[in-house]
Amino acid sequence: MPAPHRPVEIRELSEPDLPPGGALMRTAFSEVCGTDVHLWHGRLSGVPYPIIPGHVTTGTLDAARGPMKDVLGATLREGDRLAFFDVHRTCGRCLACTVHRTPTRCPSRRVYGITDSADEGLFGGWAQKVYLEPGVIVAKLPEAVSFEAYIGGGCGLLTSVHIIDRAKISMGDTVVVQGAGAVGLSAAALARRAGAGQVIVIGAPKDRLALAVDMGADHVIDLDATTAEERLQRVRDLTGGLGGDVIIEAAGSARAFEEGVELVRNGGAYVIAGHYTNNGDSTINAHTHINRKHLDIRGCWGSEAAHFLKALRILERYEHEVPWRKIGARVYGLSQLNEALESAAKLEIPKALVDPWR
Ligand SMILES: [Zn+2]
Ligand SMILES: [Zn+2]
Repeated sequence: MPAPHRPVEIRELSEPDLPPGGALMRTAFSEVCGTDVHLWHGRLSGVPYPIIPGHVTTGTLDAARGPMKDVLGATLREGDRLAFFDVHRTCGRCLACTVHRTPTRCPSRRVYGITDSADEGLFGGWAQKVYLEPGVIVAKLPEAVSFEAYIGGGCGLLTSVHIIDRAKISMGDTVVVQGAGAVGLSAAALARRAGAGQVIVIGAPKDRLALAVDMGADHVIDLDATTAEERLQRVRDLTGGLGGDVIIEAAGSARAFEEGVELVRNGGAYVIAGHYTNNGDSTINAHTHINRKHLDIRGCWGSEAAHFLKALRILERYEHEVPWRKIGARVYGLSQLNEALESAAKLEIPKALVDPWR
C-alpha cells in the first residue's frame, strides 16, 4: 500500500539476512480487516507508508537463524504451523508498561502491517513471507486449530478476548453487542461462552445476522429494518424493561454510542471497542446517561500477548462449535487486493482473506 487513496501495488522485496533469533514465516493466510480499510482511506495517523498491510497472519516456519522456541517453550521446526502476535517492541519499562499496566498504550509499541514501513522489510501479511524479528511472540498453532479458523477469527477474535476481559460478564447477564462485523461476531460467540444468559446482536446485513446466530447470539435485531426507538424497545422487552447488563460497542459509529447508553440498564457496563479511528462526536447527557444511571464506561484498545494466547486456547476448545471459518468468506490473491479492499469497504462480506500465493 504505497499511500492512502492509491491502488495497492505488487512489489518484490528481497528476503532478509536473518539476524540471530530472527525467522521467516511462509504465509498461509492473512486478512483484510476494518483497520486496513482505514489505512487505505488515510484515517489513521502516523502510518509510515509504504506499508505491507495484514497485521494478523498465519503460516508455516520457513527458516530460522538459530534454535527457535515459541512463547510456551516448544521447539519450532521448519514447516511447523504458527501464528505470531502482531504487536512488537512493547518496551516493558515505560510508565504505560509498568505503572499503569496498559501495555497497549506503550509509546514504543509497533504493529505489523500498520506501523511498520515496507521500507524496513517484510513486516506485513499481504506478502508471501513475513519477517519475524527477534523478540516477536510466536506460538505454534494447536493441532486442532485450522489456518482457516485462526484467520477467520483473526484480529476480531483477539480484540474480542480483550473485550470480554473488560466486560466482566457475570453468569446470566444479558449482553447486547452493537455491530455484526468480525469483532461483533466474535464478541457474541465469546459472551455466550463466558456465561451470558442471553446475547443480543444489533447489526446488518441479514446474512451477517444469520452468522451471528450461528456464532451464539440468541436474538438479532436488524439495524436496517428498525429505528433506534424500536431497537431500544426490543431490548427492553427482552430484559423485563431494564436494559442490558453489559453493552459491547463494536460498530464504530458515533450514533451507536448514543444508542448504547440508552440500551444499558442502571448500574450496567458499556465497553467501547469499535472506535479504532475518529468517527466523529456523539451527544450524550452526563446526568441522564452516566451519573444518574451509575454507568460504567470502559474503553478497550488493541490487544495484549495474553489475549493472543487465550485466542488460541479458545479456538482449540470451541472451533468445532463456533464457525469462525465462515467469517473469512472469500479468499483473494495478491493481484486481487484492490478488489478485496473495495468489498471490505462496502461491507459486502464479513471478512476477505488473503492468500498471497494465489
Ligand atoms: Zn512501554
Ligand atoms: Zn485488524
